[in-house]
Amino acid sequence: MLSRLFGLLGADLAIDLGTANTLVSVAGEGLVLNEPSVVAVEEGTHRVLAGGCAVGHLARQMLGRTPGSISVVRPLREGVITDFELCEAMLRYFIRKAQRNGWSLRPRVLIGVPGSVTPVEKRAVYNSAHRAGARQVFLVSEAKAAAVGVGLPIVEPVASMICDIGGGTTEISVISLGGMVVTNAIRVGGDEFDEAIIKHVRNVHNLIIGEATAENVKITIGNASPDKKIDKIEIKGTDAITGLPRKLEMDSVEVREALQEPINTVIEEIKKTLGQTPPELAADIVERGIVMTGGGSLLKGFPKLIGKETGVPVILAENPLLCVALGAGKFLESLVREKSSKYFNVKP
Ligand code: ADP
Ligand code: MG
Repeated sequence: MLSRLFGLLGADLAIDLGTANTLVSVAGEGLVLNEPSVVAVEEGTHRVLAGGCAVGHLARQMLGRTPGSISVVRPLREGVITDFELCEAMLRYFIRKAQRNGWSLRPRVLIGVPGSVTPVEKRAVYNSAHRAGARQVFLVSEAKAAAVGVGLPIVEPVASMICDIGGGTTEISVISLGGMVVTNAIRVGGDEFDEAIIKHVRNVHNLIIGEATAENVKITIGNASPDKKIDKIEIKGTDAITGLPRKLEMDSVEVREALQEPINTVIEEIKKTLGQTPPELAADIVERGIVMTGGGSLLKGFPKLIGKETGVPVILAENPLLCVALGAGKFLESLVREKSSKYFNVKP
């Protein structure tokens, strides 16, 4: 009874702590927050910038445009926490913001973690959430959350394959009967695509561009398979030789070439995962397709190319950027309803 009362008062939260974006759902309300996973810090002291603008959207706007004394940091890289202090500060900010009603009780928090992280890395997420103000922390695998978010029947004896392309990682998992049958992860994701564009522009055009520009090129005209229509974009950067600002026009064919390497790495990993899947389950996947989630799967023509290369149908999730958060929200509802944590790792 008491725990129930506390459960209600504490506004339980589900968090998709991504390398690029953090999303938070509140039990009974759904998604309440969706912000970039970035923090603005004072150079030197490494302290979070004072004032209300140091985390998330507001900090992101400063990216690449900060004066020397401020830098914008991403506390997670390649799927794992790289800066504990800042990750904790960011989580604390998001937890507070999600609990808009101002209740001061510490919430129970359910967090998605990549299936590929080590126990030590899991422990780090668990501790960070605790220190950021959670009363109790539950961990759930991101792949399972993504599958539930898409509406796949993960507890049934049929296999589902999820390919989640996030900012820092791509994780490919086969799930059946509520368990992970195969999981493979590579540290290649949307960031690597941006990096490939930066390198290409530097090598071929002697132009230095920032991460935000590269991401914009990728999102606007980036593509993985040829299309009749050729799109163009004008970008601005600094000439590597003269040091002066300069403009450049790029087209979608050139961007596709620039993205070739990371695209191939992802495809090879998907093929490898299919090869490691037991035959009966592989048959299910051929039947039901590979489901793509995560922001990176929005790269134009990527699902089509993966389908062509593997010979397996590929389905792009309806809301690739929201799947993990929606699924974690559903797990949270079942946790609140059944008060059972059978799906979760309470202590890593
Ligand atoms: P994470 O789970 O690591 O936070 P997300 O699933 O939120 O990552 O995906 C973020 C990545 O998706 C970023 O690299 C971003 O540039 C990329 N992305 C978002 N929209 C698009 C798009 N339309 N085309 C290509 N990439 C995209
Ligand atoms: Mg993610």
